Amino acid sequence: MNSNDTLQRFIFEQVPIRGEIVRLNATWQAVLERRDYPPPVRTLLGEIMVAAALLAATIKFSGSLIMQVQGDGPVPLLVVECTSDNTLRAVAHWDDDVRPGPLADMLGDGRLVITVNPSEGTERYQGIVELEGNSIAEALENYLTRSEQLDTRLWLAADDGQAAGMLLQRLPGSTDEDADAWPRAVHLGTTLTRDELLALPAPEIVHRLYHEEDIRLFESEPVSFRCSCSRDRVTLMLRMLGNEEIHDILNEQGSVKVDCEFCGQHYELDSIDAELLFTAPVPAEMASTHH
Ligand SMILES: [Zn+2]
Repeated sequence: MNSNDTLQRFIFEQVPIRGEIVRLNATWQAVLERRDYPPPVRTLLGEIMVAAALLAATIKFSGSLIMQVQGDGPVPLLVVECTSDNTLRAVAHWDDDVRPGPLADMLGDGRLVITVNPSEGTERYQGIVELEGNSIAEALENYLTRSEQLDTRLWLAADDGQAAGMLLQRLPGSTDEDADAWPRAVHLGTTLTRDELLALPAPEIVHRLYHEEDIRLFESEPVSFRCSCSRDRVTLMLRMLGNEEIHDILNEQGSVKVDCEFCGQHYELDSIDAELLFTAPVPAEMASTHH
């Protein structure tokens, strides 16, 4: 457990407002050490990674939340998966000619896809919206305010050392006694600088912003990098490619090689493994989680 990788929840005691701060350090480094992301791509990926962790923390679920930004610009894909156990993995694709610039220039005509895959029981959920806004934070605020009908504000930042973010959300309920509470909380949030967000421990940020408010700080939760790839999952994916495709690959290359995009783990199946792909039964737990 790394104390620099935390999810910190807090609530306002007198008004229905909740907050969360996510700080990623080792988790973020685990993503960065696997690919040499150009700085503008790195910033976007760090921001969306933090955003996914913040969003996952606002919903009660068991399973994984996947946030994808897909576009036709020089950064065509950003993907983050966050599980209900606070583990994260992330990857981005980019063209060599990517330059720092407005969000729309980097992503092009983009859309935001949010998928919640429950581990069991409830239905899979997927929301897809056009990407609108000048930042990942703004795009996600638009999405949340519209889809959840909850006023939400996000602050996101990432550099080569950390990725961090804060979320404020106004929950259903009366703020009659203190009608100014939400705009005040948001206004104080906007006084937080990017450097402070990246550098300060979460309790210090909460204190610095809201020491005059009645705040309850929950115990912080650890967050970590973990890739959910496995030989079983790769096997299942290859089975879906079909017998013919696999045999073509075997004939050309002698074995079937798959590298996990998220963690770089190398999987290789020789011709005997490949033969077993289509004769062995699908492991029960894999079959039940992939319809
Ligand atoms: Zn992996």
